[in-house]
Amino acid sequence: MHDIIIIGGGPAGLTAALYALRAGKSVLVIEKSTFGGQITWSPKVENFPGIPSVSGAELGDKFTAQALEQGAELELDEVISVEVDGDIKRVKTDFGGTFEAKALIIASGARPRTLGIPGEEELMGAGVCFCAVCDGAFYKGREVAVNGGGNSALQDAMLLSDTCSKVYLIHRRDTFRGEAKLVEALRARDNVEFVLNSSITALLGQDELCGIRVADSEGSEREIAVDGLFIAIGHAPDNGIFASLIDLDEGGYADSDESCLTKTPGVFVAGDCRKKAVRQLTTAAADGSAAALAACRYIDSLEN
Ligand code: NAP
Repeated sequence: MHDIIIIGGGPAGLTAALYALRAGKSVLVIEKSTFGGQITWSPKVENFPGIPSVSGAELGDKFTAQALEQGAELELDEVISVEVDGDIKRVKTDFGGTFEAKALIIASGARPRTLGIPGEEELMGAGVCFCAVCDGAFYKGREVAVNGGGNSALQDAMLLSDTCSKVYLIHRRDTFRGEAKLVEALRARDNVEFVLNSSITALLGQDELCGIRVADSEGSEREIAVDGLFIAIGHAPDNGIFASLIDLDEGGYADSDESCLTKTPGVFVAGDCRKKAVRQLTTAAADGSAAALAACRYIDSLEN
């Protein structure tokens, strides 16, 4: 049995691992996709204190390496169920693993939001993309659109404008959630066209995307020919399998107290899956440390 199982190997989960390991606890981190988490898809991170500029992939690798150096055990697998049996927390995974621990930290992040319009699912991988870092190179010299007004969309548009002939940035409002500096930099690019106060209403093309239909807030519609659409409209939590152990708000985010404790003793939450006002790398790391230290205190209280 481990002292702590952490579900999710992003900045929150790996920070939690670091703090728990340095407090002398044994730690297993289970991640279903990429150690380092969502930030690994960010082309450039320039708002993490002490590191002026780094690619998300490099930063994610550093988080992972640091946890490994401290003695973390890492498991690449998807958690399919979690149960509490007295003081034991039992976690089952898709590949048939069963793992037990005294405390559990859920740092499962969030998954990309979809537009929910016809054809979106069918055209995924055939023009509809969610990651410019991963798929941008396929669209070199071609025309693409990016949808969203947060830092992800702005960064995606920036990256794509380096190699694509044209980038349409489609956003449903005329002000941005993302950093003003990025908006300014995009406005200075000749091959970026802002399509504001506008939403995508249809995807064009049968087997391959060949365009999008966009409606503005006045109700007029236009078709834009593009080979790729990068959807970057934020993320939604994926906390469904934990619902019996933790309270979720109307958006599906986990309720917890200041020390990241949920309604179940020994079960903590950290990072983007948790209800909170600011979801940033720094706040994910802050949650990870708070949850880990609270989990260590909980384990020590069991033993005394
Ligand atoms: P976000 O900040 O939540 O932005 C999502 C954007 O999508 C918003 O502009 C939103 O519009 C729009 N949107 C949401 N639902 C939509 C819908 N159904 N149709 C059309 N547009 C929709 O998400 P994010 O950009 O993925 O960023 C998530 C967090 O990670 C943020 O805190 C961000 O700062 C952070 N991040 C940091 C870095 C970094 O370099 N450190 C990089 C990327 C992201 P409204 O504004 O109108 O609501």
